[in-house]
Amino acid sequence: IRFLQSLPKAELHAHLNGSIPLQTLVELAQDLPPSTDTDNEIAGTIERLRSGLTLDEISDFFPLFPAIYALTSTPSALSRATRDVLDAFLKPRNDPLPGSIYTPTPECAYIELRTTPRATAHLSRYTYLTTVLDEIEKFRPDQAALIVSIDRRMSDADAAECVHVAIALWDAGRRVVGLDLCGDPRRGDVSTFEKHFRRGKDAGLSVTVHIAETRENTAVESRILLGWHPDRLGHATFLSREYIALFFTDERGVYKPCIEICLSSNLLCGTVRSLEAHHIQYYLANNHPISICTDDTLPFRTTLLGEYALLLAKPPLGLGLNHEQVRRIAQMGMDARFGKGK
Ligand code: 5GP
Repeated sequence: IRFLQSLPKAELHAHLNGSIPLQTLVELAQDLPPSTDTDNEIAGTIERLRSGLTLDEISDFFPLFPAIYALTSTPSALSRATRDVLDAFLKPRNDPLPGSIYTPTPECAYIELRTTPRATAHLSRYTYLTTVLDEIEKFRPDQAALIVSIDRRMSDADAAECVHVAIALWDAGRRVVGLDLCGDPRRGDVSTFEKHFRRGKDAGLSVTVHIAETRENTAVESRILLGWHPDRLGHATFLSREYIALFFTDERGVYKPCIEICLSSNLLCGTVRSLEAHHIQYYLANNHPISICTDDTLPFRTTLLGEYALLLAKPPLGLGLNHEQVRRIAQMGMDARFGKGK
């Protein structure tokens, strides 16, 4: 564990509303005025999260979020949630071994937290993002930055507004570093978002997209998304070898987008059967850049250290990599940062 703690690690794929500590969620629920509309759903979701989620498939995962969103829809609740997520990743923690004399270390050296700006009764998309940025900017630029997520279920007008606000904040010198395309992979038509992502890229923002998370529709969608030349790719679970060969060697042979790998998330969502069958094996064998990430620590009950521990642990519990290999993987994550401490 000390070896893993000592590695400088970057968390590049963490969704804000999927990373809230359970205790924070419970306290936010206690602060909420009673409402017959949402109380049962919130209590049920907290109970599911507390007792350990089992999912039959990835589509069972997305219905968790309406209850979480009901708890993070005011500026004060959103600030509190963001603060607690950032603290969980960046504040030094005491060594878990009793009586340890070792200095406390944080989960990671750097985080690019991502979130989808929601307009609520209490927040505009602009206020949503500035509320999150106010917390992020309490940390140094080489510790924390923001990626603005666009949900594939969004209307064209909503996606345009999110990108417009992201660019305005980036132009104003706020710590926005990129755009992400996320949300239920069975919904929406990704081609409708291309113009918005192009605008973001032209303005200087980096781009990552969730890609090939499920088997269905993957060939058509992946071709469209890879055509945008994203700087990083989220999951890429079912990306075909044919597309990898076609797109990852362009005319200069240099397009190698870092793959954001979320081991526990893939196993729990049932998109990958085992670590042995996980696509990380292909990328490791082909020396393709990857970064190890948590995705959503709340439902997947994981930590970045836990994800790294899976690299070191012997099969079948882990991948059985050696220290040098794990050190190299951590460095690949640091190298793939959008922010690079600007
Ligand atoms: P938020 O953007 O609200 O801070 O974080 C939660 C949102 O992130 C979810 O509503 C969902 O759209 C997105 N999300 C979280 N985890 C995943 C994932 O594994 N795959 C995809 N495609 N989207 C995700």
